[in-house]
Amino acid sequence: MHILIVEDEERLAKALKKGLELKGYAVDWLADSEKARNRILLYRSEYDLIILDLMLPGIDGATITESVRQEGVTTPIIILTARNETEHKVDLLNKGADDYIVKPFSFEELLARINSVLRRPTQSKPVVLKVGDLEMDMATRVVRKEGTEVPLTLKEFSLLECFMRQPNEVLSREKLFDHVWDFNSLSWSNVLDVHMKNLRKKLGTDENGDNLFETVRGVGYRLAGEIRE
Ligand code: CA
Repeated sequence: MHILIVEDEERLAKALKKGLELKGYAVDWLADSEKARNRILLYRSEYDLIILDLMLPGIDGATITESVRQEGVTTPIIILTARNETEHKVDLLNKGADDYIVKPFSFEELLARINSVLRRPTQSKPVVLKVGDLEMDMATRVVRKEGTEVPLTLKEFSLLECFMRQPNEVLSREKLFDHVWDFNSLSWSNVLDVHMKNLRKKLGTDENGDNLFETVRGVGYRLAGEIRE
């Protein structure tokens, strides 16, 4: 899961970024509203969620929301507002925001909003993803192989989630990287290889003895397996 935070209050932004990273999200932070608008338009498919401050120097959060929605961006947006701005909440939702949260808020409250917004468009998807002999419980973040729990790190979990959501599809290295790491991470190629190696070590082969993750040369990787109900 990849989140973009647009917030000009540095202390708040850094605290949110750190907290969300500890929860396993890849997080980018921008303080400049014009840069943010461009990033959202150019990298619309890379983000799963945008957390957008309402009062920004330059273009405000409501205007950014309205303009990216007009450009066809469907990424969920949660707006951060100050207490005296709440009378505009209907306006925010009308402009295309999915939810808003009033400052000051607790981190737990934000997490609850994030979970509810992210669950909304995927309501029909099962909370437990099942592919082949793998099971991934999104609520408890437990992964099982043939019923036995396999402990994964946060990054390994995020990486495996990409595969479990799109089994039998070849996922490019760039796509995998963008979903799991933020824009500031460098030498991505190497990092991805290391995590793929660890995932393979932990999850190994399927019931037929074939490697679960197929390497597609020059492109990326594929998780083969039947989706189970
Ligand atoms: Ca602000």
